[in-house]
Amino acid sequence: MLIQSDSGDSFMSVQATSLMTAPVLEVFSSFQGEGLYAGSPQVFFRLAGCPLRCAWCDTPGSWELTEGATAKLRTASGLRQEQAQVSPAQAVEWIQEVDPSGRQTVSVTGGEPLMWTDFLLKLRPLLGRRRVHLETAGAHPESLLRVLDAFDHVSADLKLPEDMGAPSAVGFTEPEASPRTPDEWRAVRRAVLKSLSGRDACSKLVVAGGRDVSAYEQIFDDQQGCAPDLALFLQPATPIAGVSAPTLATMETLRASAESRGLRTSVLGQLHRAWKLP
Ligand code: SF4
Repeated sequence: MLIQSDSGDSFMSVQATSLMTAPVLEVFSSFQGEGLYAGSPQVFFRLAGCPLRCAWCDTPGSWELTEGATAKLRTASGLRQEQAQVSPAQAVEWIQEVDPSGRQTVSVTGGEPLMWTDFLLKLRPLLGRRRVHLETAGAHPESLLRVLDAFDHVSADLKLPEDMGAPSAVGFTEPEASPRTPDEWRAVRRAVLKSLSGRDACSKLVVAGGRDVSAYEQIFDDQQGCAPDLALFLQPATPIAGVSAPTLATMETLRASAESRGLRTSVLGQLHRAWKLP
């Protein structure tokens, strides 16, 4: 069944597809370029499907589920494409092919991986002793709670509502509605932070150029109130599609503001972009 997206493209409905499968966009090994584990070699397992519309999104190709989509696999023998919609067992075979050593952490990213909680719960035990990390937009707290124990580390974004376009349908029944208003964004942010407090986790706040620094204060207040122990990464936006990078002075002001609330704060750009890695 094809559904018409907001952009006019047709994309695939997976209503009739088993919830135990998920659409894979790409699997590759690289260095982690963000957050608490920056610099560590990881297998990136990127799922398609995201209802959110961040102004500075660097993976808009992950938003929609297109009919006949293929997954890109980067293995030691080169790049190849496979049919995207796969079972957890097939996904694990691909991950093993990308990192035959079995030692690299698997970073499950997107898109928004929390669109696929059934799949994630089946995937985890099949990955054995590998560490498994989750990168999430932090917009779906009930879905996060459902899979939280399946992950060894979670990196959750803190979104500035001004940076967010209206959510868009992903083409199937979403497990949880996405926030729209600033109040809804605040509610999901606080719920996500509370569920991550005390865990191996971090928060990440992307800062675009030209924003009013006072707009971030509520976000810092929320982290102070809900998860003061979490490391907070302030990430200057990589310039993209009309979004500029913030000034160093802005980042320093924000760092000082967060630290005045006792938050453990680092400023870290996207290292993989600087290194021109995938
Ligand atoms: S949540 Fe991630 S994939 Fe979705 S729009 Fe934002 S940056 Fe892009």
